[in-house]
Amino acid sequence: MAAPWRDVVRDAAAVREAAAVAVDAALLAGVLMRTGEQPHASDVVNYAPFTLLPSAVPQDLFEQAYAVQQDFNLLVDAISQNKEFLQQTLASTIKVDDFTARLFRIYTQVLEEGLAQTVFLGINRSDYMFDCGLDGTAALRQIEINTIAASFGGLTSRTADVHRLVLKVLGKTEEASHLLPNNPAKGLALGIAKAWELYGSQRAVVMFLVEEVQRNIFDQRCVENELWNRNIRVIRRRFRDVFEQGSLDASRRLYMDGQEVAVVYYREGYVPQNYDQQNWEARLLLERSRAVKCPDIATQLAGTKKVQQELSRPGTLEKLLPGRPEAIARMRATFAGLYSLDEGEEGDRIAATAIADPDRFVLKPQREGGGNNLYGEELRQVLEKIKDSPERTSYILMDKIKPQPALNYLLRAHSPLQVSECISELGIFGVYVRQGQELVMNRAAGHLLRTKAIEHADGGVAAGVAVLDTPYLV
Ligand code: ADP
Ligand code: MG
Repeated sequence: MAAPWRDVVRDAAAVREAAAVAVDAALLAGVLMRTGEQPHASDVVNYAPFTLLPSAVPQDLFEQAYAVQQDFNLLVDAISQNKEFLQQTLASTIKVDDFTARLFRIYTQVLEEGLAQTVFLGINRSDYMFDCGLDGTAALRQIEINTIAASFGGLTSRTADVHRLVLKVLGKTEEASHLLPNNPAKGLALGIAKAWELYGSQRAVVMFLVEEVQRNIFDQRCVENELWNRNIRVIRRRFRDVFEQGSLDASRRLYMDGQEVAVVYYREGYVPQNYDQQNWEARLLLERSRAVKCPDIATQLAGTKKVQQELSRPGTLEKLLPGRPEAIARMRATFAGLYSLDEGEEGDRIAATAIADPDRFVLKPQREGGGNNLYGEELRQVLEKIKDSPERTSYILMDKIKPQPALNYLLRAHSPLQVSECISELGIFGVYVRQGQELVMNRAAGHLLRTKAIEHADGGVAAGVAVLDTPYLV
């Protein structure tokens, strides 16, 4: 891949000057996070980590990722309405993975009762890496679709301005003018606002369901403020608050301390550690309600790694989206190799292949949030240990994507300025709204580029590995 900053990346004086400007620009633009030391207060904050330089992204792959986003929105929405598919696909997983099983139990329970919810809002982010072929050409490969709590749409709405300034400081005024505007915060808010409007109660609020520790609050505030700008009232509550103060009326309208809730936007609830018994009860209450959940529990299940793996099986997409061969071709063109580890011959064979050649694969459990996947020698050891036990089925295997690294500086508070070999992951935000059977909104809502040093196999920005970036199209 092209290295557009070859001439400045090793110029220590220029880099030092640009980094000082960059950090202040990030603070001014609001690219912020609460600190690890004071995660509960906004009295002391710092900049969220970001790259000094925007990273090169092939324009054709960038456009390909945008062009397929509406297809993925349709697909996720279709999966969320297909009980038979979810049941069949997750049957083996829920036998061994307690977290997926508990989510699935709530899913079954709300279906048995009958859904009170009639408006559906999906906010997802489809993530990709650029796989470098033997001939040096790059291909777009989907890593995963995040269907719950896809983050950094807010902060990344502000990073292009920072990188534009950095390029100017480095004498790259022409290049600076090519950085694309990007505002996922606004796109996400448009979807939430549409769902709120269709819910149809002027007095009702939007509730952000937030974590106990909210270090990434500014990212969420960007979306909140877009809603306030549209005169939509936003409240922030934790599962614990819902357990203590949430209630449903006879027609299952959701009330939080007296206020009716139109939309519940989850920024929490995607890992087992988010739940104790009370929080599970709170989740059930929310799912039973008429409020628009973003996502509803079916859509959360549609984002599991096991579902992703089944989607790559020949014929599955055709069953889920009949009569849409072009959309299917666009999506399939982004898939990497994915393999089931279910008990049986197919699973035995791929497990043996991965044990023999672990560097070709990534081993993934049904978890989100970064830092859960296994690579290389660790992958081999774990697979060796579980290859003859049912535990194997809680994982999937995926071909490892091998992008071409590029030099950059990862700016992190309290860290020395040093050059790193880096790789990037591009995310496209998708937003859709469905009322009954009618899709009333389906769009791509902006992008997120995250970059990390190559020595880290796994992990996102919140996990402290990747940093925010801006694509420079080449
Ligand atoms: P999570 O739900 O934890 O975010 P991901 O599937 O996105 O799980 O994986 C986490 C990180 O691991 C990704 O951001 C990426 O850096 C790396 N990763 C995941 N899948 C692959 C792959 N197939 N090849 C190379 N790296 C991968
Ligand atoms: Mg991920």
